[in-house]
Amino acid sequence: MARTETPRRIRGTQDIFGDEQRRFAHVLSTFERVRALYCFQRIDIPVFESTAVFARSLGETTDVVSKEMYTFEDRGGDSLTLRPEFTAGIARAYLTEGWQQFAPLKITTSGPVFRYERPQKGRFRQFHQIDAEVIGAAEPAADVELLVLADQLLRELGIADGVTLQLNTLGDAETREAWRAALVAHFEAHRGELSEDSLTRLEKNPMRILDSKDPKDRPIADSAPDIDAYLTSEARAFFDAVTAGLDAAGVAWERNARLVRGLDYYRHTAFEFVTDRLGSQGTVLAGGRYDGLIGSLGGPETAGVGWAAGVERLAMLLDEPAAAGIDAVVVPMGAAAEARATGIVADLRRAGVAVEMAYKGKMKARMAKADALGARFAIILGDDELAKGVGAVKALATGTQTEVAFADLAEALR
Ligand code: ATP
Ligand code: MG
Repeated sequence: MARTETPRRIRGTQDIFGDEQRRFAHVLSTFERVRALYCFQRIDIPVFESTAVFARSLGETTDVVSKEMYTFEDRGGDSLTLRPEFTAGIARAYLTEGWQQFAPLKITTSGPVFRYERPQKGRFRQFHQIDAEVIGAAEPAADVELLVLADQLLRELGIADGVTLQLNTLGDAETREAWRAALVAHFEAHRGELSEDSLTRLEKNPMRILDSKDPKDRPIADSAPDIDAYLTSEARAFFDAVTAGLDAAGVAWERNARLVRGLDYYRHTAFEFVTDRLGSQGTVLAGGRYDGLIGSLGGPETAGVGWAAGVERLAMLLDEPAAAGIDAVVVPMGAAAEARATGIVADLRRAGVAVEMAYKGKMKARMAKADALGARFAIILGDDELAKGVGAVKALATGTQTEVAFADLAEALR
């Protein structure tokens, strides 16, 4: 006999409910509140873009572009990709919408992003990011503002204590060129000791060897030259201005000279907020300055700096937020009371009172529902109450019960 199989949830996706949903929503609402304090505007951009938007701006050699993108041809034959991150789409929008006129543009967004990765704790195929960017500001003040915003967000979420800001500089173009040459010379000298992956990186993207997780690479990465000896005086001054700004704002940071972003257009500031509370998925928020990105998309040279954080990873670090309590549960007994209750519940909700109606089971089950929902009051409606035009309002914490006229219910519950 043919049986229809129940559909499954796709690997690496999530159905977010209950406690998990409360944590998730708390991250988003806190972000929304804090970004307004910093005068960042909210934008929304498409979930998919032309594949070229990501391929050109993230670079063909990155893991995201070479292995992780959800790319498909649509019915018109165009190659589209589900966004694996926000920055590239924001840069595209900046150009197509003519947002240059608003520069420096301080914006945030949030929503689902997609990467074909091996799912595990804190690593999904459809996950969610919050994102903050400043486009059109070449000043270190923009980097500082974004970092202070990130720090305040973590503090307001109550997770700042276990999370450390690691900071590095990648210098300006001249610095980067000189440092890159020194790195290549160092890695060439240790060719034989490098992992297979790092030999490929050496050809395409040598800086990435510095943040290799392969134990075979670590001693060679750790003994590689730091950027410091190659910093131009301008690049040094920029980094000093960023760290001085953080110090002035009271944001703790530590230098991590091994922290890199592999792409050519990254400049100056690179950072990650990391924790040891999430196993190997320890980076909760990451970003940096990308002054060459918009140029690489064919636009005018435009400075930019930004960060993104994984909503799931932030949510996992949270203490469980309290369930949002409701004001009252209406408990009607009998057909007449149920009919009347429908109107009372509608009126209360229109008056801004959060109220649920218990319409299943006997009186006892209905009262149990009021308790389970954490309501402050139960409003009991029986034939007697209907006749008098009142509800019996019971405070569930104390058990005290008073009669309140229907017209005064909303006021009494506030
Ligand atoms: P990782 O090293 O963990 O793969 P990444 O360098 O790929 O991170 P970014 O591209 O900088 O991460 O994305 C910013 C943030 O998005 C990360 O710091 C992390 O919090 C979150 N993130 C990245 N990939 C995933 C994923 N597959 N599932 C859940 N969150 C993720
Ligand atoms: Mg990754």
